[in-house]
Amino acid sequence: MDTTLTLNNGVQMPALGLGVFQSPPDETAAAVRRALEVGYRLIDTAAIYGNERQVGEGLRASGVDRDEVFLETKVWVSDYGTEQTLHAWEKAVRKLGVDHLDLLILHTPAPTRFERTVEAYRSLQTLLEQGKVRAIGVSNFMPHHLADLMAQTDVPPALNQVELHPFFTQPAVQQADAQHDILDQAWSPIGGITFYPGYDNDLTNALEDHTVVGIGRKHGKSAAQVMLRWHLQRGRSAIPKSVNPGRIAENFDVFDFELTDAELDALDALDTGRRGGPDPDGDRAELFDRPIPEA
Ligand code: NDP
Repeated sequence: MDTTLTLNNGVQMPALGLGVFQSPPDETAAAVRRALEVGYRLIDTAAIYGNERQVGEGLRASGVDRDEVFLETKVWVSDYGTEQTLHAWEKAVRKLGVDHLDLLILHTPAPTRFERTVEAYRSLQTLLEQGKVRAIGVSNFMPHHLADLMAQTDVPPALNQVELHPFFTQPAVQQADAQHDILDQAWSPIGGITFYPGYDNDLTNALEDHTVVGIGRKHGKSAAQVMLRWHLQRGRSAIPKSVNPGRIAENFDVFDFELTDAELDALDALDTGRRGGPDPDGDRAELFDRPIPEA
């Protein structure tokens, strides 16, 4: 199976990567290093995660050449705006210790201040023109956010990173993305949102789901591996998070088996239509109150 995907601007990216949301800063460098050592070449971080510096440290400690690694980060909403977003790039590259980013995306739409979202995206276009990023995209965009954005900007997003696991597959988002040749990238790809500490949702643990576990048993694979393989065979990118060396390796060990069409369909059929994470259309004005530090 091809382990790389081609974005709508021709740039190639690895399909499977490491996510670092909630990876404690003091464990992030080791997790990134471990991931790169076992073969990952895509790392997904974000300004708001507070661990871009440690991602850079892990990259350098791994000895893997920077140009072999696809680095993806996100602009937080408090940095949305023309100048603010250009400056957000400066902060990100400074913390990561690199001179360019492979992919820079808007972390979430700001529905009640959408004009700021559009300004931010236009600045991503500027960064792309200047060669400071190789591709640009969005996250948590629903079809109407995409339509609004694309009506006011020139470069279609290369990727949309959204909540996507067997219990919440967002068919409408996937369809809108496909229409515009936008790659779906799954966050919480193995259903991690279910067990966020202190987070309230009524989804059950996908790692223990009867169907997922049963499919795994047939292939001698874990539930996590089944879900990751499902994303890959469906043509999506996925960025499972782990700080555990064994699980980091386990999540990358998914290239030696193949799910059948019936198994893929069975996993699709687990969709509940209920998201575990926040509604991207919610009025979350408080997000603007979290400034991103300079260093
Ligand atoms: P995941 O679906 O990746 O699940 C992560 C959780 O599962 C962690 O608790 C991890 O614990 C555990 N885990 C990892 N591998 C295994 C395994 N093989 N077996 C059992 N447990 C496992 O959820 P996330 O929500 O973290 O999503 C992944 C990434 O997506 C984030 O890190 C971030 O990069 C991105 N994201 C983006 C969002 C956005 O708004 N754009 C929102 C949320 C996430 P442990 O570390 O102990 O292994």
